[in-house]
Amino acid sequence: MITSSLQEIAMSKYYFFSGPQSGNVNPTLAIAQGLVQRGNHVIYYLTEEYREVLESTGATFRSYNSVLKNSFGKSLTGAQSDRDLQVSAPWINSNLVNECSIVVPNVLRDLDTEAKPDAIIYGQMALWGRILAQILEIPAVLIRPTFASNKHFNLLETLHKRFYNEEQRKERTLTFAKANKEMHDLCEHYAIKPFPVTDAMDYGEALTLVTQPRSFQYEGTTFDKRFHFVGPCIMQRPDLGNFPFEQIESKPTLYISLGTAFNDKSEFYNMCFKAFADTQWQVVQSIGNRLKVEQLDPVPNNFIVAPYVPQLDVLKRLEIFVTHGGMNSVMEGLSNGVPLVVVPQSGEQMLSAQRVEQLGIGLALHPRA
Ligand code: UDP
Repeated sequence: MITSSLQEIAMSKYYFFSGPQSGNVNPTLAIAQGLVQRGNHVIYYLTEEYREVLESTGATFRSYNSVLKNSFGKSLTGAQSDRDLQVSAPWINSNLVNECSIVVPNVLRDLDTEAKPDAIIYGQMALWGRILAQILEIPAVLIRPTFASNKHFNLLETLHKRFYNEEQRKERTLTFAKANKEMHDLCEHYAIKPFPVTDAMDYGEALTLVTQPRSFQYEGTTFDKRFHFVGPCIMQRPDLGNFPFEQIESKPTLYISLGTAFNDKSEFYNMCFKAFADTQWQVVQSIGNRLKVEQLDPVPNNFIVAPYVPQLDVLKRLEIFVTHGGMNSVMEGLSNGVPLVVVPQSGEQMLSAQRVEQLGIGLALHPRA
C-alpha cells in the first residue's frame, strides 16, 4: 500500500519521440521499457506500423501520419551515389521540418485535455521533440543512435569532407540551407529559439544518451559530461514470425543484411548467392521490402531469403554476420559476440566499418571491392 502510493508520487510522465525508421526506433525501445518498468508513464508518438512493438514496451502508443518516412532509402544523386556510397542521413531536408509541423500541433492538441509531461525524450531525428520541450519549457533528453559530435569529431562535417563528391556537397548545402530557413521560420512561429535542422546530426542536450560504448565513438574521451555512452540498448522485439529456426540450429550459419534503409541492392544479393552457393554455410539473407525475391537470381538451396529476419534471435545462433554497418546491427552483433564483416552502403556506415576494423572486432570491405 505504502509502496504503491510512493510509486504514484514518484511516477513521472514522459513524451517519447523518434524518427519513423527502425534504425532510430529500435535503440529507444529498451529505454522506454525501462522507464515503464520503473513505474513511469511513457507516451510514445510514432507512425502506426510501430504500434505493436511500442505497446510491447508498456508505453501508451499514439500515432500520427508521417511525411518523412516515404523519403527514406532514396538515393540523392542517382547513378553517382549508387555506384559509390549513398549519402548519409538523406532525411535532413524540408520533410523533416514538415514532420515537425505535423507532430507539434498534434501533441499540443492532446495537451488541451491532459497535464503536460515532466520531460521529453527524443531520438536525434525527431526534432519535433526538441521544439515541444522548448514550447512547454520542460527538460529534454536526447538519444543518439549513431556517432555523437563535438568540436573534436563532427559527424556531418566528416561525412561531407570524406565521402561526398563536389556535386553531392553542393546539393546537400542547398538542401540544408532551404530546410534550415524553414526550421528557423517554424521556431519563430512557436516563439522559441531557432535552431538548424542539421542539429539532428550534431547537437547535444544537457542529457544525451549515446547508445554505443565510449570506446566505439571517434574521439570518445573528448566528450563532456552531457554525453552518456550507455552502450547498446537492445530490447527483444515481438517479431519472430515464421522464421525456420530449426534450419539454422545444426549448421554453421552466416547472416547477411543491409538493414532497413539502403537495402535495394540486387547486385550485392546475387553476388552473395554466387559466393556461398553449395558451400558448408547455411546462409540467412535479409533483403528488405523494396525488392522481391523474384527479382533476384535463383535462390541457392542453402539460403533462406526473407524481406525481414528476426535479427536478434538469429544473431544468437550465428558464426558470422555480414552487415552494412548500421549502428544497431553493429551493436547487436557485438552484444552477441558475433564476428562482423562490414560492407558499408553509406558514408556513416563506412565510419562504423572503419571503427570495427580499428578495434579489431571485425573486417571491413569496401562496397566496390
Ligand atoms: N532488422 C531486423 N531484421 C532485418 C533487418 C533489420 O530485425 O531483417 C533490425 C536490426 O536488428 C536493427 C535495425 O533493424 O535493429 C536496423 O538498424 P541499423 O542501424 O542496423 O540499420 P539501418 O536499417 O538504420 O540502416
